[in-house]
Amino acid sequence: MQVLLEREGHSAVAESIRVVLARLRQEIASGEFDEKSLDLALGGLSAAVERQLRQSLSHSLLSVINATGVILHTNLGRAPLAAAALDHVRATANAYSNLEFDVGTGERGKRDVHVDRLFSKLLSDHVGTDAFVRPAERSAAAISTIVVNNNAAAVLLALNSLAEGGEVIVSRGELVEIGGSFRIPDVMSKSNATLREVGTTNRTRIADYERAISERTRLLLRVHRSNFEITGFTEQPELDELVALARSRNLPLMEDLGSGALFDLRSVGINDEPGVLDSLRAGIDIVTYSGDKLLGGPQAGLISGRADLVGRMRSNSLFRALRVDKLTYAALEATLLAYVRRDHDAVPVLRMLRLSKYEIECRAEKVVSEVKSAQPKSALKLEFIDGESVIGGGAAPSAVLPTRLIALTHIDLSADELSARLRANIPPIVARVEEGRVLVDLRTVFPEQDTVLVKTLSSLA
Ligand SMILES: *Cc1c(COP(=O)(O)O)cnc(C)c1O
Repeated sequence: MQVLLEREGHSAVAESIRVVLARLRQEIASGEFDEKSLDLALGGLSAAVERQLRQSLSHSLLSVINATGVILHTNLGRAPLAAAALDHVRATANAYSNLEFDVGTGERGKRDVHVDRLFSKLLSDHVGTDAFVRPAERSAAAISTIVVNNNAAAVLLALNSLAEGGEVIVSRGELVEIGGSFRIPDVMSKSNATLREVGTTNRTRIADYERAISERTRLLLRVHRSNFEITGFTEQPELDELVALARSRNLPLMEDLGSGALFDLRSVGINDEPGVLDSLRAGIDIVTYSGDKLLGGPQAGLISGRADLVGRMRSNSLFRALRVDKLTYAALEATLLAYVRRDHDAVPVLRMLRLSKYEIECRAEKVVSEVKSAQPKSALKLEFIDGESVIGGGAAPSAVLPTRLIALTHIDLSADELSARLRANIPPIVARVEEGRVLVDLRTVFPEQDTVLVKTLSSLA
């Protein structure tokens, strides 16, 4: 105890003693002890205090091994950052930076410029002015992008800037809730715009939008059905029809894309998930999307589109309240640079998306054979089965990637107990439990984590 006092100080030790004693009192009151086990507990008090102290002084936010195969797992922090992004965050954060300072002129600058130039390379150069710009507005040809805290903030800012006091037309089939309280009707009311619902849950036609347009209409909104599908007797207007309608009535058309890939998903066999470029090329004026979903960067909300409309958002005072800090800009800039250089494998999310079943299978075989050679007579049974990884994070709800899973069962432990043991590891290993087995998908495990996995599985054997 004396050592602890000297090392950690009186108040930290006293606080830990209080916590341990309170716990002990509660356990005694609830009748958990007989005489012998109480003696044992009292004898272990000083160790318990030390444990408590260590826990209270260590991080609560920890890195975990994601063996679920869900690439964008919101509960596990969505996209892991690229190494280059971490380097750039470190270099920018531990010193002063030119965040809002023009080094050339010595005058105040704008924080957007650091990433707007890259978005513009990735988007403007590829959209082509014909599809995008009304002939009368050639000057607005360039696509601007601004960054806010997350996509929910992006939708809020866009609606408030473009439609405050007026109406926004949305299909009833798109009034979605995205996990954890992001609901389109609620965001709409916070933005001071009025929701004008059209169509029905399963069918909305272009004529429904057309009939709803009045002098109060400020915006047509389309929301990507990120986390569900409507199948069966359904109808949704083609994008071209919406674009044509918006242009003929001189109204902006916005799309909340959610995941917002800057990478052609068709190259990994996912055909039904539109990317940011698809939407802009189709003629949508404003697209909102997340930084930490398929883009593979930090948490952020991106608003890309017609420069005049984005300009209205930039000068809205809400933008100041929703802006992001230098760490986010640094991580985003480095991530976007990987795209500009076409170095897609530098972005972990893209690397995981592109992993073939064969590559995963080879690693799985290596892990299993190492566990088996460490523990030849094992209580842990390891098998291979075919399975599917999912993208998650509200992208392509029905798209799956074929994978090879390690299925675990244990002689003495149920699947839930086994998965609890894996979670109790340091670092915790999070896996899926299905049909009485624990399933490990290496798609979302970093190759350098395979040795930890081998060690942990061997210890369970
Ligand atoms: C994920 C998602 C959001 C919320 O994005 P955050 O970055 O988590 O705020 C909003 N709309 C759609 C369609 C989404 O998929």
